[in-house]
Amino acid sequence: MLRYLAVLSLAVTSLALPASAAKRQPNTKVTWYGHATFRIETPKGLVLVVDPWFGNPKDPDKDALGKIGKVDYVLVSHGHFDHVVDAVALGKAGASLVGVFELCNALQATGFPKDQASMATCGNVGGTIALGDEVKVTFVPAFHGSGVDRGDGTLPVYAGSPVGFVIEVKDGPTIYHTGDTDAFEDMRDRIGDRFHVDVMLACIGGHFTMDPQGAALAATYVKAKAIVPMHFGTFPVLNGTPDELRAALKARKSSARANARGLPPPSIEVVEMKPGETRTF
Ligand SMILES: [Zn+2]
Repeated sequence: MLRYLAVLSLAVTSLALPASAAKRQPNTKVTWYGHATFRIETPKGLVLVVDPWFGNPKDPDKDALGKIGKVDYVLVSHGHFDHVVDAVALGKAGASLVGVFELCNALQATGFPKDQASMATCGNVGGTIALGDEVKVTFVPAFHGSGVDRGDGTLPVYAGSPVGFVIEVKDGPTIYHTGDTDAFEDMRDRIGDRFHVDVMLACIGGHFTMDPQGAALAATYVKAKAIVPMHFGTFPVLNGTPDELRAALKARKSSARANARGLPPPSIEVVEMKPGETRTF
């Protein structure tokens, strides 16, 4: 009888804890440089940079670009200057460009090496591209504008739809960089249901993007486990704060209206990074 119970208990334990649910060790380094600029290093050493603007007003190291080292891929969410400043420099240093097709063309016109902005890494909304055998990037919608400013007083060059990126690291985290956007209800199906987002890098500054209230709603749709606030404090008008995000998430938790609409009560960790800081997810 005891042996039977022991076997039964083992069976129940293994049912309750399938191997796939075993807790994964954090293995992917994420560094924030202020604004929307992140460096992501995978367990195998692949380096991605998203929305490069090193030396921005919040970046403590004005020579961060000079120290960045090898970058394999630069992901650009849209064409506005605060997201593309250092893209061409990274391309000239060897990085391939991940962006929507029109943005790739527009950045080629400003000097991005053509053979590193090819169909291999340039896609569009709804598409997924593989970066080697370790990383997949899916282009997801964002509500914003997109045009590349040539800096010569002429009108910006059309750069297609703005996007966010869902970055899936094999045996590592799934990271969603929202790009610049408002929250939208499709986030629930397109992102929250399709992917299991571990970390959401979310704009909270307001004025040009969602504010802390909007980011709290977005995180609820996405069902992110953790949210790293970004795109705030760079300029005085981007005045949303991580404290306001925490308060908004707390308020949503007890919001009868939100729950009546079938939104899960969020239990989302706000990971407040300092510019220049690296965390492992
Ligand atoms: Zn921006």
